Amino acid sequence: MTEVTAGRPVQSEFAGMPPKLYAASPSRLLAHVDCPRRYRMQYLDKPRPEQRPQRAHTSFGLAVHNALRDWWDLPRDRRTASAGRELVRTSWIDVGFRDPEQSMVWRKRAQEHVVAYLGGVDPDDPPRGIERTVSFISGALRVTGRIDRLDDRDGELVVVDYKTSQKPLSDDDARTSLPMALYAAAVWKMFRRPCLRVELHHVPSGEVISHTHTPESLTRKVDEAKSIARDAQRADADFAERGIESTLFPPVVGPICTWCDYRAHCPEGQAAGPEKSGWAALEAAEAAQVPRVVEVD
Ligand code: SF4
Repeated sequence: MTEVTAGRPVQSEFAGMPPKLYAASPSRLLAHVDCPRRYRMQYLDKPRPEQRPQRAHTSFGLAVHNALRDWWDLPRDRRTASAGRELVRTSWIDVGFRDPEQSMVWRKRAQEHVVAYLGGVDPDDPPRGIERTVSFISGALRVTGRIDRLDDRDGELVVVDYKTSQKPLSDDDARTSLPMALYAAAVWKMFRRPCLRVELHHVPSGEVISHTHTPESLTRKVDEAKSIARDAQRADADFAERGIESTLFPPVVGPICTWCDYRAHCPEGQAAGPEKSGWAALEAAEAAQVPRVVEVD
């Protein structure tokens, strides 16, 4: 999923007027939950502190996402599984890798994963939406985000998110995902049709983890998002008044700090341990030898 909206109060507050809207992507909401200090640096500080350079696993993930998106733009006679190989080659991002050899190895893996994945996709059944921006308002929260793929399967709308992490997914990942539930709620509102099914498609393994919400479980997720938004909006207002003196952005120090894009500006996080290299996530997978390799051509 890609973030598309900077959250901020978007409506003046006058007596008798509705409360200010808080506009946020699911990523912004989760950033506030994970670490308010990182949230502040990423969304509020001006100028925004410089992030560390992009990591290799992000480059890998972007190339896979772009190839799966562009595949649907190919003329029907070229929309074959093996065409995914060339799409990965042309969208490859050679950033964050240890050296050219590692980049080459992972480009080949990305090509194999994409070709294998596309082997299970019907080229004659295009999705209802690809990288579609969706949005909805509930109470004082406006959620905006972009979904990888929206399927219409015999009248049932299904939200699909591609996952490219080298770690396998757990059975609960689709059920507990706040972003996926918010996308389903947004699709329901925008298309005026129920949308309850969400799917995570793990491209490296070909595994699909799905969950079918109920209207009640979607409502609970939307309520969860609104609760996070209230806290974030309160913190934003405090920041507007006190700036970096605000105490509402404590660092949440833990193992994630070794991966944090803003740790160069966070002494507390630096104390959590040495920073992971740009290619550390791929090295862990290389050691575990988990990637599936399926030749389709
Ligand atoms: S290094 Fe850790 S504590 Fe600091 S901003 Fe990043 S996640 Fe938060």
